Amino acid sequence: MTTLHFVLFPVMSQGHMIPMVDIARLVAQRGANVTIITTPVNANRFKPVITRAIKNNLNIQLLELELPLSDVGLPEGYESFDLIPSAPLFNKLFAAAAMLKEPAENMIQELVPPASCIISDNLFPWTYDLARKFNIPRLIFHGPGCFTYLCIHISLHTNFVDEMVSDSEYYVLPGIPDRIELTKAQASSWGKKEEKEATEFMETLREAEEASNGIVVNSFEELEPFYVEGLAKAKSKKVWCIGPVSLCNKSLPDLAERGNKVAINEHECLKWLGSREKGSVVFVCLGSLSRASTEQNIELGLGLEASNIPFIWCLRHPTEEFEKWLIEKGYEEKVKDRGVIVRGWAPQVLILSHQAVGGFLTHCGWNSTLEGISSGIPMITWPHFADQSLNERFIVDVLKLGLKVGIEVPIIVGDQDKFGALVKNEDIKIAIEALMSKEEGGEARRSRARDLSKMAKSSMEEGGSSYVNMTWMIQNINELLDAKSTTMEDGIVKEL
Ligand code: UDP
Repeated sequence: MTTLHFVLFPVMSQGHMIPMVDIARLVAQRGANVTIITTPVNANRFKPVITRAIKNNLNIQLLELELPLSDVGLPEGYESFDLIPSAPLFNKLFAAAAMLKEPAENMIQELVPPASCIISDNLFPWTYDLARKFNIPRLIFHGPGCFTYLCIHISLHTNFVDEMVSDSEYYVLPGIPDRIELTKAQASSWGKKEEKEATEFMETLREAEEASNGIVVNSFEELEPFYVEGLAKAKSKKVWCIGPVSLCNKSLPDLAERGNKVAINEHECLKWLGSREKGSVVFVCLGSLSRASTEQNIELGLGLEASNIPFIWCLRHPTEEFEKWLIEKGYEEKVKDRGVIVRGWAPQVLILSHQAVGGFLTHCGWNSTLEGISSGIPMITWPHFADQSLNERFIVDVLKLGLKVGIEVPIIVGDQDKFGALVKNEDIKIAIEALMSKEEGGEARRSRARDLSKMAKSSMEEGGSSYVNMTWMIQNINELLDAKSTTMEDGIVKEL
């Protein structure tokens, strides 16, 4: 049997790149060759982790393609969604990425051993043409978990809702065992259905998804058994849950440095956490893309101060006005005995996996959600946009691991640089205190979180469900390739 060579195409955003790089290492650990194709700025962020993987004898390479940014009217350096200041420019980055098809084809042509399978982010429908060109299987990687993907699928196919309810009215999502109440805006905040461009893009995604040879999901079967099966049925596809992929990070550098250079020394961070009581700290991080207004950061700061709970607050893009407020208020001095502010990128997985952390205030990005679950930590949910409202429902209504901060109206994708509804400091304080409380409800949440964390870890161990799914996924690729070579010997070219 020839060595398999997987070619990975991650979307240029930390929430997509980070799990793909983890997937690359998991696939390479099974003896396959892996090539990740991305752009220079994104490659730079991941060079340290890939260099360590290569030192550990994994056959991984990062290949770079220049994005034709000027062709789409984007300035130099705008290579990742978190580096683009205004969300309306996001479509331009997608357009530039689609122009990588031809150079990627030339790159794949040169690969040794030859490419045997593409794993592409499902937001890159153009990689379907590459798979056809080389007649190799193409798996798609779905960012969110199966619950959320199934809910999106159901919402898109539930036309009666459009006629029956207004944007802000709640309705019950049909066809699933959990009672999930949603507004139309929450169910469709990943895109405005009525916009022609968005509809066309969704249609291209659907076609490329339909033509794929299977779906790879960063989740584990025990977490959402009904939804794994439901998604496979709804899409008529094999669904391989191979996560939580973040659990492949075991060494201190791998845990500390995921997706970007961190803004706090990991040893100092561990020292601080080591000085706190078990389960006493709340970690606050709202992901790589969401932005908070000065007003919102002030409310958050006041809420954290009033709660009297130790915290690490990952503060991204603070405005000058907010920095001024911090100084005038003497904020950092006031909270210095129990609070740390990280200005920039935080070593999230390292922090979450420390025993001192007992709560996570999250924006409900799927990676963050799963990282919280893997670490056995209950969550306060503060969704902003895209799939985050649905992930919130999963955390709160299905897993019963979280408390809502109270966001009813999400920001619609395309408007990410607008700020969402203001959450007041009293509500933040109440949510933090309730989450960290020693009362019955708090203990029950903690106990469920601990159980799920154990299941998550076992699923990734040899013989665990995600480990076995990875074996099946690789076996399936081998079977598809074998079937192709047998029919080619017969003089018939079988199209994959
Ligand atoms: N992350 C991190 N440090 C930060 C912010 C984010 O390590 O300061 C990581 C986080 O652990 C997760 C990813 O970035 O793996 C964010 O992905 P997610 O799906 O949670 O949200 P997004 O940023 O895509 O909205």
